[in-house]
Amino acid sequence: MKASGDFRVETGSVYLRKRNMKSFNSSLFSSALFRKHTDIAVAELETYLDNVAVRGLKLKDPYELLEKARKLMTGKEDEIDDFDTERFRAIIDLYIRTGIQVHSPGYMGRQFSGVIPLAGIFDLVNSILNQPSSFYEAAQLPNVAERIMSDELNKFIGYDPQKFTMVTTSGGSLANLTALLAARNHAFPNVWKKGLAAYPPGSRPAIAVSEDIHYSICRTAGILGIGEDNILKMPVDGNGKICVEKVPGILDDAHKKGFIVFCLVASAGTTSLGAIDSLNELGDIANKRGIWFHVDGAHGASLLVSDLLRHKLSGIEKADSITWDAHKMLFVPSPCSLLFYKDKEKSYGAFQQEASYVFEKHADRYTEFDSAEKNFECTKRPMIMSLWVLWAIYGRALFSEKIEFVCQLCSEAYLLLKKEEDFETIHEPECNILCFRYKPHDFPTYLIPDYQLKIRDEVRENGVFFISKVDIGKETALRVVFMNHQIEPKHFRLLLNEIRQVGQNIINQYQKADFSLNTKERII
Ligand SMILES: *Cc1c(COP(=O)(O)O)cnc(C)c1O
Repeated sequence: MKASGDFRVETGSVYLRKRNMKSFNSSLFSSALFRKHTDIAVAELETYLDNVAVRGLKLKDPYELLEKARKLMTGKEDEIDDFDTERFRAIIDLYIRTGIQVHSPGYMGRQFSGVIPLAGIFDLVNSILNQPSSFYEAAQLPNVAERIMSDELNKFIGYDPQKFTMVTTSGGSLANLTALLAARNHAFPNVWKKGLAAYPPGSRPAIAVSEDIHYSICRTAGILGIGEDNILKMPVDGNGKICVEKVPGILDDAHKKGFIVFCLVASAGTTSLGAIDSLNELGDIANKRGIWFHVDGAHGASLLVSDLLRHKLSGIEKADSITWDAHKMLFVPSPCSLLFYKDKEKSYGAFQQEASYVFEKHADRYTEFDSAEKNFECTKRPMIMSLWVLWAIYGRALFSEKIEFVCQLCSEAYLLLKKEEDFETIHEPECNILCFRYKPHDFPTYLIPDYQLKIRDEVRENGVFFISKVDIGKETALRVVFMNHQIEPKHFRLLLNEIRQVGQNIINQYQKADFSLNTKERII
């Protein structure tokens, strides 16, 4: 290969003349280095996976971490530095040590999970092959895998197989936005071209959502020009489910006031409590009134793959669109979100523009597999691959068994909690999320919300368990999410003991700070 010198590249009629072009160290792309680097990373990850100690998340000071990370960077600017095995190891090591220990039984905090390692390995394959999946041309197998997975999963949803469609999106938030965009454009077909001025004069497009809906849905109202003031909140009961009997009245009332409610959003697994709305009844109400029915199943749609749990989502086939995060309860690397539409035609309503460099005027058997017209992303990760590979190799039972395990674990934790007098349950869990409060005897009510927050912070500080907190109405509670099959009831008992211990420490701090702990009620 000619390393340097004088040569010409002819592009059309333009000559590019380059002198003394430097050689490029193409060995960085070599398979030998790939193997070497993979071996190092795999060895680190092996140690990581072997460590099943009960660990939580001890937050590092971000500025200290910044310094540490900076020190790991090469000082060379003008030439490519040599590969430094130690530096590479140190980066992986720092990543592991400062990360949430998703594989540890101490991790009960959030909705992402330790991934099935095979799925992670496939993510590496994805990354090396680097095929953006919005176009069949650019990612043939991923697009076929999307078709297969949509058919597989639709068996549990129950849409008409000839009419439905599915598109992958980079996250459930984007799936929700896309679905509501399709809903808005369906109800107000001129808005895409004419803008908000196309709304009939005096009309107020509105959406009706659960009081406990995920914030991404509320954001869509701002993004789509609906306006936050035009979000109608439907009240929820003590278990966090929409009070169905109040919905018709709310919709009638809204109609009288001039709102045009074009979309009703329910949750299949709310983020805070894991509550599953009554999809059957809500679907009937929305369908009867010609309102687009969207189900945010980012968390809970995965329950559909279990024969034991599917009934909790009965009626989901009444939804016009469904958001389903595989990176939550199907345990694959994020993002991997699926957006289902009952009616394929309506999925094209979300984005209506033309772009001749990518979109073909006349669909053919290839472009039929493109998703670019239905999703926001242009370059999109072939996220379906890690899900499909698990499904192809192990089959559905891998998912249904793990889901059933974590949901059962949650019920057991709930029963355990109910027996403990110093703990208060605040809902009956429907999937794998459990919220509760620690409330020792005679503890003053007015301090309870602050107390839960302090407990969460101290539990985190101790670094053994990682749990989260949630605000339910005006109440603050502790929240655990069981995503991890390594957790056993004994770990939950350990957590309760830890909460008792830090709870006592905090009471001592309160006493030092001179709060009157004898007053049961105090207005602050
Ligand atoms: C997690 C979640 C979302 C957001 O999904 P991302 O994939 O995190 O963007 C939306 N709705 C619900 C109910 C969720 O639990």
